[in-house]
Amino acid sequence: LYQRSSQLFAEAEQVIPGGVNSPVRAFKAVGGTPLFAKSAKGAYLYDEDGNRLIDYINSWGPMILGHAFEPVVEAVIARAKSGTSFGMPTELETRIAKLAVSMVPDIDKIRFVNSGTEACMSAIRLARGFTGRDKIVKFAGCYHGHSDAFLIQAGSGAVTFGTPNSPGVTQGTAKDTLLAHYNDLSQVSDLIDHNKNEIAAIIIEPVAGNMGCVPPQKGFLQGLRKLCNDNGILLIFDEVMTGFRLAKGGAQELFGVRADIVAFGKVIGGGLPVGAFAARNEIMNYLAPVGPVYQAGTLSGNPLAMAAGLAMLEALDNDPSIYQRLEEKTAYLERGIREVLSAYDFPFTINRVGSMISVHFDAEPVVDFKSAAKGDNDRFRQFFHGLLQQGVYIAPSAYETWFITDALTYDDLDFTIKAIDKVAKTL
Ligand code: PLP
Repeated sequence: LYQRSSQLFAEAEQVIPGGVNSPVRAFKAVGGTPLFAKSAKGAYLYDEDGNRLIDYINSWGPMILGHAFEPVVEAVIARAKSGTSFGMPTELETRIAKLAVSMVPDIDKIRFVNSGTEACMSAIRLARGFTGRDKIVKFAGCYHGHSDAFLIQAGSGAVTFGTPNSPGVTQGTAKDTLLAHYNDLSQVSDLIDHNKNEIAAIIIEPVAGNMGCVPPQKGFLQGLRKLCNDNGILLIFDEVMTGFRLAKGGAQELFGVRADIVAFGKVIGGGLPVGAFAARNEIMNYLAPVGPVYQAGTLSGNPLAMAAGLAMLEALDNDPSIYQRLEEKTAYLERGIREVLSAYDFPFTINRVGSMISVHFDAEPVVDFKSAAKGDNDRFRQFFHGLLQQGVYIAPSAYETWFITDALTYDDLDFTIKAIDKVAKTL
């Protein structure tokens, strides 16, 4: 079934560490060869062995309107023909900035970078500069990119968190990082008490998408907001996954809580490499050349990427029904999967927020990466491979999120639910 992918993987291993780009290495967790893509359109991926797959990985999140989305394709082709990198600004950058600022609540200015990682790093640097403090609180199981400049054990979820981290302990390269458990407000409060006037920012995935789509408990984000207000700490929402996905205004809009700095990636680039970070004037004007914090990049604001992102945001901004449709489709899929799996003896948990969903085989909901680590990964492995054989491609770890796109039809969803039923019989 995957003969050519296996050959290509063997070839790649000679020249690329691990044979593939790092998110795809997650396949190691389920065993088997990462599939090599040939093309993609709408809800489907076509691999090098000629299989058509219904895609729930969604390039790890960006393609919310489906693959090869026509307005993005056209914008990119048009832009590419008239030059892609100038060393001077283009109007495109201002246009996407204006649109993003109008879609996201309470931000005045936005700066573009090349990835979600860079967006989070830049947000952290800005917070440190603005507050004159060094320490950062992050949550175990939340992922903010591959750079560990400020993180303890950068990595997503149970599988890649190799060593046990003690909450509140600083260690290694991340000596200024304080680690807390997601949804544990009193622990954050204790950390603040023990590090008075030293904490620059709390960074959080407002929905813990890298831990199996764990939602914030009621009052948690509001509680963080209050702790930040009371202690001169900046709240950073890492909306790389949730931004422009959960709503036009992302998690801030969905939960009605405002962050001080917001980091974006994935959807904002329409599938091209774009990250961004945004805040109110007071904070953003701390960036050079107005303020002292230097931040720049050779390809940041690259017109090709800006053209793709602008076409994507315009499509999301112009059709107010998209988020409603995504919600309905994902709720339909969730109901279908629940119904199917309920017929069997094994325990399962489904987490869902908007068009993000995860399915794993534990009775207890995952609350942090430690509980995820205890999960029934053997059953998940079988589930993953069973679905792949049916032509359904899900994230290769139980503690990663599936992304629903507007390109998925109800027929695709029904097919998926039936495939899950078939596979469940074998688990
Ligand atoms: N933050 C979150 C919440 C993410 O999910 C990711 C990537 O998966 C990142 C940051 C890093 O973004 P990138 O992979 O574009 O560097």
